[in-house]
Amino acid sequence: MKIIDGKKIATEVKNEIAKKVQERMKAGQRVPHLAAIIVGDDGASKTYIGSIERSCREVGFTSSIYQYSATITEKELLDSIDFLNRDDEVDGYIIQLPLPKHINKENVIAHVDPNKDVDCFHPINSGKLFLGEACFLPATPYGTIELMRRSGISAAGKHCVVLGRSNIVGKPLAMLLAEKSDTGNATVTICHSRTPNLKEVCATADILLVAIGQPEMITADYVKQGATVIDIGIHRIPDSSEKGYRICGDVKYDEVAPKCAAITPVPGGVGPMTMTCLMLNTLHACENKD
Ligand code: NDP
Repeated sequence: MKIIDGKKIATEVKNEIAKKVQERMKAGQRVPHLAAIIVGDDGASKTYIGSIERSCREVGFTSSIYQYSATITEKELLDSIDFLNRDDEVDGYIIQLPLPKHINKENVIAHVDPNKDVDCFHPINSGKLFLGEACFLPATPYGTIELMRRSGISAAGKHCVVLGRSNIVGKPLAMLLAEKSDTGNATVTICHSRTPNLKEVCATADILLVAIGQPEMITADYVKQGATVIDIGIHRIPDSSEKGYRICGDVKYDEVAPKCAAITPVPGGVGPMTMTCLMLNTLHACENKD
């Protein structure tokens, strides 16, 4: 059984990005600049801001954070987006979701300049992804596909079961796996909360990709002997340890791993690849402007 080391692969990709940034600097070109709009100041936002700033520092990008209180009006938020759209120094930016209830998420996303939409939330980029055209790829599916590619796991000709159909993970991931491309060519089944016989369907997968947001729901009986399991879920479960919690995924790792040909751990699997692929998208956004 192979444990897919997302941390190691993410470090490799970050080193490659950092090298490109160095080369740009030597050639007198601009350094990529990623901005982030954060609304509200809960613990999750702070962690996210910290990891954006740290990742940008590691690869040599400029970063800027625009943090607003949860009481910001939709008009004020749209004005802030206009400002980033106009700022030639900013190559790409993200808007942390979810937004407060009084703000219309669709309006906000539609306002983002698609050329700076490094999260791939804008309908133009989602449409391009669906059509198989060049575009930014959403960071988590991108990270998952890149992790598989760099680990030598080919989806071609395999039955991939994608568990979850969210717009940011499940659906785009399924599209990428089904795409006529070097990293695609799989036969893909998408499952969700209304799928009958979920266990039986999952157990037919050569590659099972899980993004359901249900801690350790996927037990050994969901998995075919010799399958590859990619666990995208991430959860913080309170426990009696010194830290007061443990991190786990959507897959019950200890009982599933012995059945697998390969598996991603949580933490240290898909997670580190997500932020890294956001950096890759920002580099591409900067290169697109050269
Ligand atoms: P969502 O809650 O948006 O979507 C969950 C999907 O799983 C839905 O399609 C839902 O079905 C389906 N689902 C939920 N419960 C079940 C169930 N019991 N049986 C079958 N299907 C079920 O989550 P996200 O896609 O945003 O995230 C999924 C997981 O991935 C989360 O744990 C999240 O924390 C993690 N994540 C990790 C990232 C990383 O960087 N590693 C980044 C983004 C997310 P239905 O549509 O019918 O409701």
